[in-house]
Amino acid sequence: MTDNAWDNLQRGDSEAIWHPYAPAVGGPDVFPVVSASGVRLELADGRQLIDGMASWWCAIHGYNHPVLNRAVESQLHAVSHVMFGGLTHPPAVKLAQMLVKLTPPGLDRVFFSDSGSVAVEVAMKMAIQYWHGLNRPEKHKLLALRNGYHGDTIGAMSLCDPVTGMHYLFGDTLPKQLFAPAPQCSFDGPCTDAEMAEITTLLSDHSHEIAAVVLEPIVQGAGGMRFYSPEYLVKVRALCDHYDVLLIFDEIATGFGRTGKLFALEHAGVVPDILCLGKALTGGYMTLAATLCNERICSGISNSEAGAFMHGPTFMANPLACATAIASIQLLLSQPWQRTVQRLQTELAAGLAPARKLESVAEVRTLGAIGVIELKEPVDMRVVQPLFVERGVWVRPFGKLVYAMPPYVMGSADVATLTAAMVDVVAQL
Ligand SMILES: *Cc1c(COP(=O)(O)O)cnc(C)c1O
Repeated sequence: MTDNAWDNLQRGDSEAIWHPYAPAVGGPDVFPVVSASGVRLELADGRQLIDGMASWWCAIHGYNHPVLNRAVESQLHAVSHVMFGGLTHPPAVKLAQMLVKLTPPGLDRVFFSDSGSVAVEVAMKMAIQYWHGLNRPEKHKLLALRNGYHGDTIGAMSLCDPVTGMHYLFGDTLPKQLFAPAPQCSFDGPCTDAEMAEITTLLSDHSHEIAAVVLEPIVQGAGGMRFYSPEYLVKVRALCDHYDVLLIFDEIATGFGRTGKLFALEHAGVVPDILCLGKALTGGYMTLAATLCNERICSGISNSEAGAFMHGPTFMANPLACATAIASIQLLLSQPWQRTVQRLQTELAAGLAPARKLESVAEVRTLGAIGVIELKEPVDMRVVQPLFVERGVWVRPFGKLVYAMPPYVMGSADVATLTAAMVDVVAQL
């Protein structure tokens, strides 16, 4: 494409489009992508960028993958969409069976929705309707963790970190939830009883009004890219059982291998009552999410006044998305993905290690296919974003965090280029 095409795209975009977390007018420049293949994004001027973000952690197999392309194409000729009220279809049935089989025993029922935030809303509604069914409607609050992130819709937002989640902007519209401190224990370390003191007090004081504890297991993602001890999850499960509160795990970011286990909950061997999946579910091809729950939830909701679970998105269980998810999961499981994620962890750790010596860096950490440089000060995106593009990589920092969550198909040389660019750019700040 010509310079003109680039300019036209940028101008057209700035005139008509709103970008995430950006002002309508006067936001930073956006970069036009015209195609993508493997781990490379091609810009409108022909430049290629190594994608360190996997499109917000979704595109685990990279772009334009022949297996996923074929899945979309063949489903397209069967049925691209059909309503899910009163009807079902083969991709939904097969995908639900796969998810039930891959997740821990007990999580046996699947509710499909169209995005991660909605999967979280569904989980919240399941928990609230469950307690209605048990004639305890006063148990309708959620207990979430500081530094958490669960999505951008009103309900999901009410669970996000109350400070960085910008709760003050939405006033009384947001439901008021309870918040426990973010886990401080490291991934490799123990989780002491002292660490559990505050969440224990919250549960013992408020369990009469709490429907569920909701958290991101092992990795708190968009709320800070923080990793914590599996022991914390074991202790939270015990507290939930003791205080008769449900447990919801949001594995929208961690599911499908990102932390080195298929699901992060496997690090702890802990099973929640409700599990949210999204992001990498379709390998980044289409928007699809799922909320799984156990028999206890199903029967509780069946006993509720409504007798049914009261939710039903228009695009629920979209056949194209379900067919792609089946292909993506089969593709993942057909290869030695644990070894791949382990290799990425080793290479990310080695590549980012030099950043430890930099004055501006607070911490460097890696877990699975996640590599994080935490700075002492927030980055200026207007300055940083073009620096990455000039180096031929796509990295999108937020706040103090410069991180990579690459597609699993990224080769060693590209990881080296990606991490060197991250260290370089951070060194320049
Ligand atoms: C991204 C994310 C969500 C929200 O998913 P969307 O598809 O963006 O609505 C929820 N929870 C976690 C942990 C996430 O990482």
